[in-house]
Amino acid sequence: MRLLVIEDEPKTLAYLKKGLEESGFVVDTARTGTDGLHLAMSDDYDLLVLDVMLPGLDGWTVVERLRARKSTPVLFLSARDDLDDRIHGLELGGDDYLVKPFAFVELLARIRTLLRRGPVREMEHLVVGDLEIDVIKRRVRRGGVRIDLTSREFSLLHLLARRRGEILSRTQIASYVWDMNFDSDTNVVEVAVRRLRAKVDDPFAVKFIHTVRGMGYVLDVEKP
Ligand code: CA
Repeated sequence: MRLLVIEDEPKTLAYLKKGLEESGFVVDTARTGTDGLHLAMSDDYDLLVLDVMLPGLDGWTVVERLRARKSTPVLFLSARDDLDDRIHGLELGGDDYLVKPFAFVELLARIRTLLRRGPVREMEHLVVGDLEIDVIKRRVRRGGVRIDLTSREFSLLHLLARRRGEILSRTQIASYVWDMNFDSDTNVVEVAVRRLRAKVDDPFAVKFIHTVRGMGYVLDVEKP
């Protein structure tokens, strides 16, 4: 089992790494939210242990962006014990929450529980009208006919479909699908949306991907 621990305090990080390795896990580490998110996106971990207060991106932003692409279980670590923070973290897609300081055995018990449960948050199948998205197999059908998408096109469609009815800005889409900021040049997003439309919408009478002028894009059966 491979874990990624994202924690900026060197002592805590070393302590967690040592303890988890002694418990039989393979452990990678990151000390900023940016590095952690990059590792979590590019590699497949069984679970993330994620500190909330981090330099770069905070833990909440990390989990929010991660959830656009992956369903890796996330255990938040936080010095805060405010109930609102806890709810916020879980709403964004965290799976559990542990308040510092905690006993190592407690951390281990929570990790084992989450690993037994597995990644269950992800919707395995999304349906919008006659559009069907099989998230696990990364396959798309419309009107029963298979549509071949590139990996990037699939990620874009998956994002729009799981946030169905919600207007997503070009900048938001860039940060979720490309894992980076295109504040100056969101043309990349426009081009990608055009390509996706050519496959998913253009051959059909009913369009699902809508442009909302000055705001972004939304996927739904009807234009908002
Ligand atoms: Ca911290």
